[in-house]
Formats: sequence, C-alpha cells, structure tokens
Amino acid sequence: MAALKPVSLQPVPAEGPLAAASLVTALLKRCASKSLEELYASVRAADPKIIAKLTSVVVTEEQLELIESHGDIVAYLRTGPTTNISQCDGCGKTTVVQGTPPKRCVLTLGCAGAPAKSGEAKRIPFVAEAPETPAEAE
Ligand SMILES: [Zn+2]
Repeated sequence: MAALKPVSLQPVPAEGPLAAASLVTALLKRCASKSLEELYASVRAADPKIIAKLTSVVVTEEQLELIESHGDIVAYLRTGPTTNISQCDGCGKTTVVQGTPPKRCVLTLGCAGAPAKSGEAKRIPFVAEAPETPAEAE
C-alpha cells in the first residue's frame, strides 16, 4: 500500500462544538470508521490500515484540545448513516441531528435562534514548515 499523502484539517467553522464535530467527521471519513468508538477500538487493536490512515492526518494540539473539550457530544457523531451536531445560534445549545436540523430552535422554549449543522473539516495538503534559514554561516 502506497503511503498516504499527509493532510491537515481546517475546521468549519473555526471554533466551538461545530468545529470539533467537523474535525471528528473528517477523521471518521478518512479512516472509514462509523464512530469514534469504532475508531478507538481499531486503534487499540492496532489495525494497520487504520493506523496508516490516521497517521496521515496531521491534527494540531489545539484541534485535539477542541475535540476533547466537546468529547461528550462528538461521541455521538456517526458516518453511514451520518449524524451531525447542530448548534442554535440563539441559545447556543447543541444536539445530535440526522439530516436537516429544524429551521427554528426546539431546544429552548421561546428561542428565536436558528440551528446550524456541523459539516466536515476541509482537508488541505500538509506542508511542513520550512526550516528556518540558518544564520549566515561564515
Ligand atoms: Zn436556541
């Protein structure tokens, strides 16, 4: 199996639970795992295909922290059939949705907010930071 080209992820949006969800969805799709639970099980079992796919994704420390800080909700993300996280822009409450979230908030009575749905983080080719040019050696 040819080595996979390393990619880094760009969460959509940039922060919050939907960003964490977009990172997890991208990881699940990359590894063809149905859930984080299944992905962790494959890692524990040292499945070489999964390890190869997972190590080809460069996840930054901030992104890992973001995923961890929303660990309780991203645990519900699934692929095939896909579930997403929806967050209300009014009250900020999150829930798990399959398909299209309701147009109006149903999480807080009287809230006029509109829920937004998590997507998948953008995969961008990973470019290692160029090593610092050495000071003029002479
Ligand atoms: Zn709301």
